[in-house]
Amino acid sequence: MNEIAAPCFQPLDAGPAPRRITREVRIGNVAVGGGQPVVVQSMTNTDTADVASSVKQVAELWRAGSELVRLTVNNPESAAAIPRIREKLEMMGVEVPLIGDFHYNGHQLLAGEPACAEALAKYRINPGNVGFGKKKDTQFAQLIEFAIRYDKPVRIGANWGSLDQALAARLMDENAQRSEPWDAGHVLREALIRSALDSAERAVELGLARERIVLSCKVSGVQELIAVYRDLARRSDFALHLGLTEAGIGSKGIVASSAALAVLLQEGIGDTIRISLTPEPGQSRTQEMIVAQELLQTTGLRAFTPMVTACPGCGRTTSEFFQELAKVVQNHVRTRMPEWKALHPGAENMTLAVMGCVVNGPGESRHANIGISLPGTGEAPAAPVFVDGEKTVTLRGENIAQEFIALIDRYVETRYLRA
Ligand code: SF4
Repeated sequence: MNEIAAPCFQPLDAGPAPRRITREVRIGNVAVGGGQPVVVQSMTNTDTADVASSVKQVAELWRAGSELVRLTVNNPESAAAIPRIREKLEMMGVEVPLIGDFHYNGHQLLAGEPACAEALAKYRINPGNVGFGKKKDTQFAQLIEFAIRYDKPVRIGANWGSLDQALAARLMDENAQRSEPWDAGHVLREALIRSALDSAERAVELGLARERIVLSCKVSGVQELIAVYRDLARRSDFALHLGLTEAGIGSKGIVASSAALAVLLQEGIGDTIRISLTPEPGQSRTQEMIVAQELLQTTGLRAFTPMVTACPGCGRTTSEFFQELAKVVQNHVRTRMPEWKALHPGAENMTLAVMGCVVNGPGESRHANIGISLPGTGEAPAAPVFVDGEKTVTLRGENIAQEFIALIDRYVETRYLRA
């Protein structure tokens, strides 16, 4: 009889692997790479030439926590708008660095609008889209020369959807000569990585410092992204921008981005992230910021806003009150956080629990800084509150939500004092 081997469970260490140390890149007042905390960034979807709308959206993204904001620069009107957007943001006290996203005509736009070249804190160029045929190398060199002249860092961002076709064809030919050829997916991943790495080395040859380069290789599949970035991280020490491109709409985009980025971040790979969500009609662009921050916070890499633990509910409680309370509490701490950040640093590390019944309520609430255990079906109508593991008060009646919020505010004011 065959023996069945006992399953071997490897105990997992809690927490992500040490950050992979890359070259630190200064982008305006923000440091990316070099072991610095992972930076969150986003991109506008306004017409950049519409200065008022672009300023409004950049400010919204910044207030939601975006530490860098990228804008499309695709024509002379949008290039001319950049310095005006910068100026208006500064008048509003919004100091977020702006990144210009260039394709095909970036060399002309930077030449035609020196004020745009100066106002941007970083240029993003795609080696597959800098130009066609023989002009490609010349136009790439011109973009790098602008970056050197204006002392700006550059993201060299290769993308699956705009892969350098000449390079891909050459690697396919090389692959055909192998005694054991790779599959087509492997060759295309190699083409993407080589496009980014070769372009970065070319930029260095042209005089751009390695500390002025961020790399990205965007693909739209979770497993491909993980494979590409593991390889990219092994083969260079450039700072890396992580993101799943064209992740999609709603829960699909959130899950796919989180699945891919969580694996890489857990392995210490990635210096800045963007969650590329397609907004639902009418939905705020800031949704991608919330997802990015929650990804970093739930994986233990950074803290932004107090986290609320809430039970999913079950047959032990038919009340929806705990769901409403969890939402009210989450919205409250998110709204108060900008003020707390200034006046009560450390409040972002606070943990909260809103639980639906006595089964897990008191236990989970004791693990949080502040937790409330609401009464389930058939329980006495009383909600004990736990502060740092100790039961302090029991709330009853109509005003439980307001009283619990007041307890949270008081906790922040007394516990997190500015040094
Ligand atoms: S805490 Fe109570 S209500 Fe919530 S999921 Fe657990 S058993 Fe159900």
